[in-house]
Amino acid sequence: MRTLDFEYFKNTVNAMRVDRIIGRPIGIIGLARSGLAAAKLLKRLGGDPFVSDVRTGSELKKELAELREVNVPYETGGHTQKLLESSEFLIVSPGVPNDIPILQSAQEIGIPVFSELEVASWLCDANLAAVTGSNGKTTTTALLGGIFKTAGLESAAAGNIGYAFSEVCDQISSRGWIALEVSSAQLERTFDFHPHIAIVLNLTPDHLDRYDTFEEYASVKIRVAENMTGVDFLIINADDDYLVQLVEDVEARKIFFSQIKKIESGIYLEGDKIVFRFGEFEGELGLTADIRIPGPHNLYNAMAAGAAALVAGVPGEAIRRTFQTFGGVEHRLEYVDTVEGVRYINDSKGTNVDSVWYALQSVPENTILIMGGKYKGGDLSRLDDLIKQKVKHIIVIGEAAQIMREAYSDIVPVSKSDSLEQAVENASGLAREGDTVLLSPACASFDMFTDFEHRGRVFKDAVLRLKARSSK
Ligand code: ADP
Repeated sequence: MRTLDFEYFKNTVNAMRVDRIIGRPIGIIGLARSGLAAAKLLKRLGGDPFVSDVRTGSELKKELAELREVNVPYETGGHTQKLLESSEFLIVSPGVPNDIPILQSAQEIGIPVFSELEVASWLCDANLAAVTGSNGKTTTTALLGGIFKTAGLESAAAGNIGYAFSEVCDQISSRGWIALEVSSAQLERTFDFHPHIAIVLNLTPDHLDRYDTFEEYASVKIRVAENMTGVDFLIINADDDYLVQLVEDVEARKIFFSQIKKIESGIYLEGDKIVFRFGEFEGELGLTADIRIPGPHNLYNAMAAGAAALVAGVPGEAIRRTFQTFGGVEHRLEYVDTVEGVRYINDSKGTNVDSVWYALQSVPENTILIMGGKYKGGDLSRLDDLIKQKVKHIIVIGEAAQIMREAYSDIVPVSKSDSLEQAVENASGLAREGDTVLLSPACASFDMFTDFEHRGRVFKDAVLRLKARSSK
């Protein structure tokens, strides 16, 4: 059996392009995490950033203090002409809608608009392994980052987890790797972005509030591979037919992963063994039981991260060891506690129908499902069979309560709670020993919470209160 001996990539594409920013006035729209990080990055590398946000000074106290500390000028309470008059180009944060007037004006005048991902990639010598897809990005990025660490490589994991790309892009040398979570909003405004490895995990309807059609959303996701060439690796889910067909014309070397078929070039299952074969190189990455994070979706995530790590030159042993120890990321099918024999699971990040489908795959029968929030679209009937099989009661919350009730009340009892805390109380009343209570909302959180993390914390706090009460 031959094992892999891939040479590290010689970095040719992502050499630092500081000439694009030194001494140049650059406008940044949006002062959330990535905007703030981009401002600091430009400043420390010699650019001349100016930040603009629609929120007021009092809402942005902490961020503005950080900008003042590094002498970056800003405006708050709206975007003014100043942004257009004095910027060579604009950087737009992922949370900013595409149709705001300032972006339209920029387009009319001919001022280029880039994402933070694009600009940070100019300012990066490190090798990039980008992770995108509809679901599983954060988990896979964290796992891949974990594998790089276990292997002792100079590395970082960034994107939506822990660090913004702009915080780490200039901190890792050309010998090192950055595992980078890449969202569709970030990909919309890329041009030269060129990862050496890109994983596309899956493509299912999501963010249909931002895109007119699924095809439009899919075409944005696949931009991750647009600049890749024959020395790069695109790692693709072979069980997703639409995705496979979408990447047909991509130039990069394709590595597939599958749980249902044997793969010519890629990673697949032989019984309970995880097997890889890239041309003449082949070997095993241990057993499916080695993967500590639960569920078939996490097996996909692990196979994809494993394939990426292998082509980056990481020995199989370091990959297997990380599979055995990596415990997952907060708010993704996170076990919270068991109270009076009932298991509570926080999947606040289950914000679309597909992720709830996978969450339900991973729980036993007699689950009480808490769902609802701000509806983003998606075919709710896709969950019908699994709900019949696994769910004994649904508790709906938030703006989408009525939509959810209409979708499922013919299948299982559905009741409404006015808050998440109350939903947890009601769930504990309905649950019997051995049952599971799962928060997996199929919706965004912005109707009742600042973000999904906030929603997850509220859920966990409510469970901890139940626990405290039960042990009195
Ligand atoms: P993302 O960063 O893409 O939103 P996460 O890793 O945060 O993905 O996982 C979000 C949710 O999606 C999880 O709570 C889980 O329910 C579900 N999920 C994770 N991985 C996958 C996958 N490969 N396929 C489908 N659903 C997944």
